[in-house]
Amino acid sequence: MTNLAETRKILGDLIAFPTISGRPNGDIIDYVRTYLASIGTETHIDPHADGERFNLFATFGPESDGGIVLSSHLDVVPAEVEGWLGDPFVLREDGSRLIGRGTVDMKGFLACILAMAPRFKAIEADLRTPLHFALTFDEEVGCYGAAQFRGFLDRLGIHPQIAIIGEPTEMKPYVGHKAIIELTTEIRGSSGHAADPRDKANALYFASRFISRIEEMARECARRPQRNSAFDPPFTTLNVGQITGGEGRNIIPDFCRFLWEIRPIPTDNGRSLLQDIQHWIDETLLPEMQAVDPESAIETIELADCPGMEARPNSSAMQLIGRLWTNAAPGVLSFSTDGGYFQQYGMETVVFGPGQMTQMHQPEEYILTSEIEECLEFLTRFSDYMTTDAAS
Ligand SMILES: [Zn+2]
Repeated sequence: MTNLAETRKILGDLIAFPTISGRPNGDIIDYVRTYLASIGTETHIDPHADGERFNLFATFGPESDGGIVLSSHLDVVPAEVEGWLGDPFVLREDGSRLIGRGTVDMKGFLACILAMAPRFKAIEADLRTPLHFALTFDEEVGCYGAAQFRGFLDRLGIHPQIAIIGEPTEMKPYVGHKAIIELTTEIRGSSGHAADPRDKANALYFASRFISRIEEMARECARRPQRNSAFDPPFTTLNVGQITGGEGRNIIPDFCRFLWEIRPIPTDNGRSLLQDIQHWIDETLLPEMQAVDPESAIETIELADCPGMEARPNSSAMQLIGRLWTNAAPGVLSFSTDGGYFQQYGMETVVFGPGQMTQMHQPEEYILTSEIEECLEFLTRFSDYMTTDAAS
C-alpha cells in the first residue's frame, strides 16, 4: 500500500501553495505537471480566459474513450488569521491531525491520488479502461473551472463515464446536491443632505424593498416543499448575506450593494425565480426609483450558476462504490460541487472522499492520518479493480 509518509509529504507541498479562489494557480499546476512528468505521465492544461488559472487533465492506461475520473478542485477558501494557531499555509501535525487550509477541502484527496499515481503508472498496461485525473480551478466561488471542462474534454476527445469527486464525505457516497446561483446587486440613487430629500432616491430605501421581495420569495418557496425529497430542507432557499452602503446619519445614501444567493431544489427552476424578481424590479421598483431621480439604476450581477447534481442512487458510479467500499445508502449534500457539471457532461457522478464535512472552511481545518489511510486503501482496491475484467 502506498505510504502514508509519501502522501503527507505531498500534502505539505500542496498546502504550501496558497491557492485561494480567483488567484493565479500556475504554481500548483506546475508542481502537479512536474510530479506527473517525473513518473512519465503527460498532462494537459486548459487555461481560463485570463491565462492565469488552469484546469488539468491526465490519463493513465489505454487511449480509448470513456474511463473513470478522479477529480479534485485546486482552490481553497481564504484563511483569515483569526482562529488559526499557526500559518494556515504550512502543514502542521498535532497528534493524528494534519492541519492547514485545504487539508480536508480538498487537497487531502488530491495528495492521495498523486501519491497513488506511480502505482497507476505501473499498472497502466493492464488497465482495461482509462483512469483520469481532472483538477479544476475556482470551485469554491462558482465552479468556474468545471464550467469550462466540457470544451476541454471535447478538445481531448475524451468522454469519461464515471466521476468520483473526492470532497470530504468520510468515505460515504453522496449522489445529489442543490444548484446555486450567486448574485450581487448594486443600487445607485442620489446623494444629498438628509435635511432636503426632495428629488433624491435613497439607495437604502430601495435596497430594503428589493431585499423584502427576496425574503417574500424565500417564504413562498418554503411553503411548497418537494414531496419525499432527499434534501434537507426540502425546498429552495434564498439568502441575503451581506450589505454595504451609506456614509452617515445625515447623508442620503446614493449607493448600496448586497450579496445574495438562490439554492434551488432540482424540481424548482432557479432561473425562473430570478426572472420573477427581475420582472418586478423592471416593472415596479426601478420605475418608482427613476420617477424620483431619472439617473437611478439597479443592476444585478450573476457571479455563478452551478448546476445541481441530480440524485441517481443506482448509477454505475454508486455500483463502483458499493463493490469497492460500502453498501451504505447514498446521501445528498447541503453544499454544491463540480459534480453538477460533470453529470451534465455525461458522467455518472458520486461525491466520495476522505475527511469530515464539518472541517470545511474552518480555522484549524484538519484531516486525520487515519482518514488519509482509508482513502489510500480505497484507491488501492480501486487500482486492483481497474486491472480486472470487471472494469472493462
Ligand atoms: Zn471543496
